[in-house]
Amino acid sequence: MEDLGKMANIEPVRLTSKSDFKFKCHPDVPCFTKCCRGINIILTPYDVIRLKNRLGLSSEEFLAIYTVPHLLEKTDLPVVALKMLDDEQESCPFVRDGEGCILYDDRPTTCRYYPLGVATLQHKEGADDDGFYFFVNEPHCKGFDEDHTQTVAEWRECEGVVDRDEINKEWTDLVVRKRSFPASIKLTEKAKQIFFMVSYNIDKFREFVFESSFLERYPVDAETLEEIKRDEVALMRFGVRWLTSVLFKQTDPHQQATGTPEAE
Ligand code: SF4
Ligand code: SF4
Repeated sequence: MEDLGKMANIEPVRLTSKSDFKFKCHPDVPCFTKCCRGINIILTPYDVIRLKNRLGLSSEEFLAIYTVPHLLEKTDLPVVALKMLDDEQESCPFVRDGEGCILYDDRPTTCRYYPLGVATLQHKEGADDDGFYFFVNEPHCKGFDEDHTQTVAEWRECEGVVDRDEINKEWTDLVVRKRSFPASIKLTEKAKQIFFMVSYNIDKFREFVFESSFLERYPVDAETLEEIKRDEVALMRFGVRWLTSVLFKQTDPHQQATGTPEAE
């Protein structure tokens, strides 16, 4: 197989799970923590749940303190990115010199993939249900000089993104599907707010489900109800499925409904 690592800073390379690349990151690389500064890290719904729990914050508090709003390329869907500090290097608030990431076990999906990017999350041309990967081209990253080769599949396993991708899959699918709609089709502002709430503000979505007429309008079976009451990841995934059915209900982009789901 081609040694794709050597091509990292030359031109964009489309990688599949079977592609291999030469790369290793560890605390002794000369560039240690450079990738945690001046970087745009878009967060997935599960990233936010993990991070706000790690920090002991409500989802609203986490969003206000640690994120900035962002629009995904080629869509008008509102997402959030980690807010970098206002220092010279625009450092991530969770990086420490010599120590690395202080919440490593709960670090976001994008950090886990680095130096790979995921096409579906970045909305690269050609992203589809199968997705693909590419190198994040940053000359400061010296991990490509290390003598260690792995496939993308091995990297995903090692970095703990396989389970995360599974949890985020329905959300990613929804976002990818939105991308395929013609630019002329717009979501209403209210629909975008609901997309944002379901995606990132799980505490507010819980209120929306359990303290409004939501369950009268959208009845759910007893088993699901129990599950979404006790498990916020299940609630988030339920929300994404609900969004997909009411907000993005038609698969034909030319007939896509752009209305707003309702719950008083
Ligand atoms: S820049 Fe690359 S090699 Fe250096 S710490 Fe970050 S990922 Fe590791
Ligand atoms: S969350 Fe952790 S791994 Fe990600 S950029 Fe910040 S310090 Fe680095």
